Amino acid sequence: KSVSPDHLQDILNQIHTQITARTDYGEVATYIPELACVDPKQFGLAVALADGRLLSVGDADVPFSIQSISKVFTLALALGQVGNQLWKRVGREPSGHAFNSILQLEHEKGIPRNPFINAGAIVVTDVILASSTPKEALAGLMTFIRTAADDPNIYINEAVARSEKETGHRNFALAHFMRSFGNLAHDPDLTLGTYFHQCALEMSCRQLAMAGRFLINAPGMPHLISPSRIRRINALMMTCGHYDGSGDFAFRVGLPGKSGVGGGILVIVPGKASIAVWSPGLTPLGNSRLGTEAVHLLAQRTEWSVFG
Ligand code: GLN
Repeated sequence: KSVSPDHLQDILNQIHTQITARTDYGEVATYIPELACVDPKQFGLAVALADGRLLSVGDADVPFSIQSISKVFTLALALGQVGNQLWKRVGREPSGHAFNSILQLEHEKGIPRNPFINAGAIVVTDVILASSTPKEALAGLMTFIRTAADDPNIYINEAVARSEKETGHRNFALAHFMRSFGNLAHDPDLTLGTYFHQCALEMSCRQLAMAGRFLINAPGMPHLISPSRIRRINALMMTCGHYDGSGDFAFRVGLPGKSGVGGGILVIVPGKASIAVWSPGLTPLGNSRLGTEAVHLLAQRTEWSVFG
């Protein structure tokens, strides 16, 4: 269904009024100390339409830590480098567990369930490092994201990367455990150093909505990756993008999405739009609480859904 830009801006304004009236933000992530000091009252929402228009409301120009949303971009890069070989090292099933869980790894011989849980994303980063140094890999990632967003002003926050490294015991455990099964080609310090930096990328809602356009798959749009890959990445976002909350997100919003513990969510309306929302407070599953509410309202009012 198509919505006129004027009507869409009205919808965004209404959602902004509704969401900013609420105080039940949820808790900001505290296990990364640098993220614990973010003001939970902030809220931004941006929609990039397939025709090039960009609409937004609220704190849509404030950069935030994209965290696990970076996993969408590294997945695209890894698939570009090794193609379907990637699936020998990482699965494509929802995990039904927390984003940082180690539980399934022992049974499944160090092969993570999917590329969006931490273990899977660490393997994806390890794959990218097969052909480049960490510096080159991060430069390649930045070039991809800046090209997708058509914006050179996108940077990594070194303080966030350092903060995560200092407290990243869980991720070190995952990496070492996978290395013991032969599913990590590099020293865990090297792979995780790269992983923490990709997670520490900062973007505003407007920049992220723009960057997400490479997943819209509309005719006439520039294609950074092939249409069949776009469909598959969207399928994984739908089934695994919110960890153990993926089913509920699909039920409530009906669109592929990828969340991060910085409180951002990237949501794709295939053929139509790329949406970025940000509210730093999280549900116990680590997904943005009011961000999810906002895209739920947006999907209802626009009638955007992959289910017709
Ligand atoms: N950098 C975070 C971590 O590894 C990413 C997790 C997330 O955003 N869900 O814990």
